[in-house]
Amino acid sequence: MPETWSPPHLHLDLTAPERHLVRATLRWHPRRSSTLVRLPAWTPGSYLIRDYVRTLEGLSARQGDRDLAIERLETSCWRIHCEGQAPVQLCWRILATDLSVRTCQLNGDHGFLCLAGVALQLEGERWSPHRLSLTLPEGWRAFLPLPEQDQGWLARDFDQLIDSPIEAGPHPCHQFMVAGVPHRWVSWGDDLPGRDPSWLADVERIALTCCRLMGVERPASDAYLVVLHLLEKGYGGLEHDDGCVLQFGRTTLREPQGRRRLLQLVAHEYLHQWNVRRLRPAELTPIDYDRAVIVPTLWFAEGVTSYFDQLIPVAAGLASEADLLQDLGEELSRYLLTPGRRVQSLRASAEEAWVKLYRPDPHNSDCQISYYLKGAVIALALDLHLRRHGSSLAAVLQELWCSHGRQGRGYREQDLLAVFGRHAADLSTLLPIWLNSREDLDLNSYLADVGLSLNAVAGSHPQPGWQCGPGMTLDRVSRGGAAEAAGLQVGDELLAVAGQRLRSAEQLGPLLQSLISATEPAATGLPLLYCRDGRIRETALRPGPAQVERWQLQLDPSAPPQAAERRRRWLELMP
Ligand SMILES: [Zn+2]
Repeated sequence: MPETWSPPHLHLDLTAPERHLVRATLRWHPRRSSTLVRLPAWTPGSYLIRDYVRTLEGLSARQGDRDLAIERLETSCWRIHCEGQAPVQLCWRILATDLSVRTCQLNGDHGFLCLAGVALQLEGERWSPHRLSLTLPEGWRAFLPLPEQDQGWLARDFDQLIDSPIEAGPHPCHQFMVAGVPHRWVSWGDDLPGRDPSWLADVERIALTCCRLMGVERPASDAYLVVLHLLEKGYGGLEHDDGCVLQFGRTTLREPQGRRRLLQLVAHEYLHQWNVRRLRPAELTPIDYDRAVIVPTLWFAEGVTSYFDQLIPVAAGLASEADLLQDLGEELSRYLLTPGRRVQSLRASAEEAWVKLYRPDPHNSDCQISYYLKGAVIALALDLHLRRHGSSLAAVLQELWCSHGRQGRGYREQDLLAVFGRHAADLSTLLPIWLNSREDLDLNSYLADVGLSLNAVAGSHPQPGWQCGPGMTLDRVSRGGAAEAAGLQVGDELLAVAGQRLRSAEQLGPLLQSLISATEPAATGLPLLYCRDGRIRETALRPGPAQVERWQLQLDPSAPPQAAERRRRWLELMP
């Protein structure tokens, strides 16, 4: 190694926002005559191969005054040939036009970079420190969760570098403390803490409640950054070791439950500071950025976090019992109205994350169940089951934090099963069944422990077994429903039923109701005219009976007084 060796240095130039191009330069001292460089194929926390390389252009390499040969080995991997140990400089551009928490956008308003989609990994340097520096348009500042060091930032290794989202622009930054740990809040799209004086105090209460849930005095991070993109519409979040990025809709925020929903999102990403970032599945320790890695326990990382994100604002005194009944009721309802829960087990949902959950498809709800959603339902059952045994889901999480997370040891499924079995012996048998089964749990028996019941609300209209979007086009055709039996498919355009021209999706329910009352469609069906691939077709629709429209979570007036006391302790996250 030459005496002048210095860490790999990534420089990003954001001064061409109107062209949406981030100009990147990576400078390093080569350790050998050829070096592999790779761009990650995905970003941790979002389990989909994104092929970030599709936004990369103009890759070139120089050493001194010499252009170097670049040999492409895979779509996202190159070999650079060089001579001697003089520094090599690699240049490329990233087209940053896609705004999400896991992609990059650069325009005149701001820049947001998810570095997994920008930074090239050098062979042999993954665990070396990496320097980062930025050139920004005038009047902009950069916000990122890395320690600052001489005109830039220093990451302890490549993993920390790409775990550091960058938000840049003329935005205000608000500072606050949580248990003595400095926190920053940066909003783009609307300065929420600037116009809502109690916002940061509420976020602090959420953060302290997360600490209490984990059984710790202070956050896991030494300095935490929250970046919020407040957009006209949108929802999402991505967790990092020392921060998180949130997307939320301004329209939703103005609704009565909007503020609570955003606090739940904050709670979710903040709790990930432990669950999944530091308390991490063994399959992600360390992370393989080049390929999909099967993680059977993703339900624990996301389902348990989703379950607690609704309870934390209640335990923090920022939401009421009635709010929780509404939010949890909606979640349980969504689960029970997803037919795919009969097709895919929770374990399979986690294992198939890479190819199913992140790929929206009109047939999804018929053939899969989200490991966030069913994971949260199982987490509820686990928490209430553990409470029958004098423990709680929080106690299990705390034990795992001490035995694995705090030590940097990844956990496997058998480690989870062992801890659950220690807190309630019968879970050693029950939990594997719950993970592999496609049957519903007896939720009402668990809910009764805390004086609640889940009740069906019947729909009033006959079921055509379709969902109709704007333009009278079918967005969804339910498996086993009337529309499917009539030969309809997603994309068909509905024109008329029983000789009546169809104009809007809203008129469909009442119209079918009136037609069924007036005729006897069971035998022959209602004549339906539709268009597919430019040709008019006809079929007969026999709508099914009205079905459960939703489920409602309610207080059970006949519950014994002990149930109310158990509910109080459950809502306060007390064992
Ligand atoms: Zn999550």
